[in-house]
Parts: sequence; C-alpha cells; structure tokens
Amino acid sequence: MTNLIDIKGVSHAYQTRMGPLPVLDGLSLSVPEGEFCAVVGPSGCGKSTLTRLISGLMTPDRGEVWLHGEKVTSPRKTVGMAFQNPVLLEWRSILENVILPLEIVAPRMSRKDRVERAMQLLEMVGLKGFDAKRPSQLSGGMRQRASLCRAIVHKPDVLIMDEPFGALDNFTREDLWQTMRDLRAAEPFTCVLITHDLRESVFLGDQVIVLSGRPAHTQFVLDVDLPADRKIDILYTPKATE
Ligand code: ADP
Ligand code: MG
Repeated sequence: MTNLIDIKGVSHAYQTRMGPLPVLDGLSLSVPEGEFCAVVGPSGCGKSTLTRLISGLMTPDRGEVWLHGEKVTSPRKTVGMAFQNPVLLEWRSILENVILPLEIVAPRMSRKDRVERAMQLLEMVGLKGFDAKRPSQLSGGMRQRASLCRAIVHKPDVLIMDEPFGALDNFTREDLWQTMRDLRAAEPFTCVLITHDLRESVFLGDQVIVLSGRPAHTQFVLDVDLPADRKIDILYTPKATE
C-alpha cells in the first residue's frame, strides 16, 4: 500500500522570547492512503503544530513531510481542514458555505454540479432541508456537520481535523463519530484526526499515534476497550521535552 502521508524525522522548535521551544523532535509516521490516523496527546505536545506541517502552513526545522509522493514546501489546496470552531460565513447559506471550496479549486465545474455535490453530502450527514439556513440558525453539532461537508466537498487528498468535536456535548459528539464512519464508508478518504479524547481516537482510528512519552498517558490508551472488529496500531512517540 502506498503512503499518502510520510513524516520523516521531523523536528520543530518555536523561537520565543525565552529562547527556542522544542516541540517535535525526530517524529516519524506514515498514513497509508484511505486510512484514518488519530493523534492523541496532552495539550501543548505539538498536535496542532503537526497539522500545520502536514498542510504546508509551516515547514519543519529538520526532517521532511511528504504528501502523495511530493515533498511539502508550501500550503496545499489538496488538504481539507476542520477545526473545533467551524468557520462558516454567516452571510452565506449552509449550501453556499459548503460549495465555497469548489468555487476555488474547481472554477470550471458547473453551478448545477456543485449544488448536486454539496446537496449529496448534506444529505449524507443528516442536514437535508437545512441547506437554505444561515449558520447561526443551526446547532453547534449541525454547524460541525456542515463544516465537515465543506472540508471534503472538493475531495481533498486528506482531511485534517484539529479537535473538531471538542466543543460538543457527549451525545452530539458520539453521533458525529458515527457520521464520520458513515461518510468514510460512502466515500473513502484519508484522515488525520487530532483529539485529546482517547475513546474518540480508538473509535475512529485505524492507527492511533500517542504523542506522549509519559507512561500514565499511554496506559490510559490501553485501558480503553478496543473495538473487536478492527485492528488498531498504536504508536507511542515521546515528545522532545519529556
Ligand atoms: P497542541 O495542539 O498539542 O496543544 P501546539 O502544537 O499548539 O500543541 O503547541 C505546542 C507548543 O508550542 C505549546 O507549548 C505552544 O504554546 C507552543 N507554540 C505553538 N505555537 C507557537 C508559536 N507560534 N510561537 C511560539 N510558541 C508556540
Ligand atoms: Mg492544538
């Protein structure tokens, strides 16, 4: 199987007034095409930094990031992103928000095809009938569903989600986990999910990366019941400063 993402010995330090702050130190990981990689770790361990390196928003001090056989040196349009607080435009309807990436990456696609694609996704995530609403008319969970549609509408190489369900209540969050699984069953895509919820990481991940060298953290992961239907690889990657 080919790897969609290859992170090879990546190190990064931020320059701060107190001097360099090492965040990632020699991190290596691979995500095969079509796989779901969940990255867990305590706050401040470098999870968001990792997403910026994969999407090309930042380049590492040392090491290399490869995406689809190409070395990443600048921001990528082929990466879909979703965050904890969905950034939906209030002056656009839900449908027009979801269509937005297509206007940018597929300018020649017809209006009819764009609408069809967006409506198909909205239906898949349970937002049928909400396409004409404004973001503020939807609940937090529904807004997150809409932002997921927007993140994958243009079929990016990889969907990167940085704690996308962190602000939701437990019930809504677990509904969204199932929606994620349904979406991937209907339309396979490669995914990197950043989370600090261990249950979320094992429910969704084919591979779980633990960015923490602290035995207590790794033990928590093992204590979570692993679903019997899937084999999950767990990779422990100590951070630099531990
Ligand atoms: P996480 O997402 O796992 O919480 P981050 O990748 O956001 O961690 O940050 C890792 C560490 O780097 C934290 O200590 C954070 O304060 C620091 N950091 C993040 N971004 C910057 C920046 N632009 N400048 C300086 N320090 C930063
Ligand atoms: Mg973060």
